[in-house]
Amino acid sequence: MESLATASDLLNQCSKCGGCQAVCPLYGETQAEPYVARGKIFLIKNYLEGTIELSPKMKEIMSLCLLCKACVDNCPNKVPVDQLVLAARREIAKELGISFVRKNVFQHLLQNNGRLSLAARMGYLYQHSGIQSVVRKSGLLELISPDLAKKEGLLPRVARRSFRSQAPKLITCSRPKIRVAYYTGCLTNYVYHGTGLAVLDVLGRNGAEVVIPEQWCCGIPALASGDEASAVALAHRNIEAFQKAGVDAIVTDCASCGSMLHDYADLIGTREARIFADKVLDFSQLLDDAIDFQPGAREVPVVATYHDPCHLRRGQGVHTAPRKLIRAVPGVELTEMNEADRCCGAAGSFNLTYYDLSTRIGKRKVENIRKTGAGLVVTGCPSCIMQLDHVLKLEQSPVQVMHLAELLSMTYEKGEV
Ligand code: SF4
Ligand code: SF4
Repeated sequence: MESLATASDLLNQCSKCGGCQAVCPLYGETQAEPYVARGKIFLIKNYLEGTIELSPKMKEIMSLCLLCKACVDNCPNKVPVDQLVLAARREIAKELGISFVRKNVFQHLLQNNGRLSLAARMGYLYQHSGIQSVVRKSGLLELISPDLAKKEGLLPRVARRSFRSQAPKLITCSRPKIRVAYYTGCLTNYVYHGTGLAVLDVLGRNGAEVVIPEQWCCGIPALASGDEASAVALAHRNIEAFQKAGVDAIVTDCASCGSMLHDYADLIGTREARIFADKVLDFSQLLDDAIDFQPGAREVPVVATYHDPCHLRRGQGVHTAPRKLIRAVPGVELTEMNEADRCCGAAGSFNLTYYDLSTRIGKRKVENIRKTGAGLVVTGCPSCIMQLDHVLKLEQSPVQVMHLAELLSMTYEKGEV
């Protein structure tokens, strides 16, 4: 969608049936009409008709959307509400600007891997030098803002060095069936090294030669905040870097990154962008469709349940492959939770911006997990892992959360290839 001005036809497709209320996680928590798809459509229409302005209130309402696409999926007329919200955010960013912090993150930090690694290093030092525990014990954050203290508790442990700086650039195996490039995403790169190692382990044991090119943030945080120019710049960098890798597929372990990488086709619109986007596969898709995945013999005796990341299930249409792979693990019993595809409340940085609301959404997810009696929740998005892990701990739940790649990797006896 180029701009809101071209969206009148789409807005008119809404029949005001209200069907979106039943599936919108924000409406579920707030019962507030402006937050549900129908309310947002109404406001955007009024803006286009000149009866309301792009005020700070309008900005807040448009930012209160998880972009989870549950409304789109359940809408009888398939109104692309997430795209309308993104277009509104772009227009709002042009009119009202974006915050100083966000602007600097999108335009300076994310465009420069050296600076991003330095910021991660500072996060690591904050967490490991004793400063974090002094700050927490002092109650300083609560003093500044109780909200800030809660958000600080959400941040996972940052790794000492980035995953990509330690992993080999090329991981070969005997008689490779396929050559793939691994898009690690920022959370695997700076936080969840276990996921990255597991991805390499499973791919290597199943006949994939893996290259890890230099790469940048996928751009989804910038795009979701209305800063399309930064997202486009990042897309160009990634397309060029992966073009040089000469691979059959581009694999990612992150649902949000994967969805965004697919969107490069429309965002950039060039032949190169379409070729790039066509090669993108989620880790589970690659194993299920392109490689004949064989688990190891080691049993993992656990009752597990699976959480569908929004950007994997609705963003990329992937939901059977992860379940099939979990069932292939010896010893695992897969049990489905209610509302497995309902957003966990992470939604990129939504959980940082709207911590309380996001946590309420997460608690509903955790309650659904609890009812299954599972001891493990498996998923395919590091952002969901961060959110689920945080809310499970808040609820003092013993349930573990892990990426699908980590579960599959556990089936192999280490040291044997
Ligand atoms: S479900 Fe679709 S048509 Fe019905 S109110 Fe919501 S957006 Fe409009
Ligand atoms: S995308 Fe998700 S959060 Fe946003 S309006 Fe639709 S259902 Fe609600």
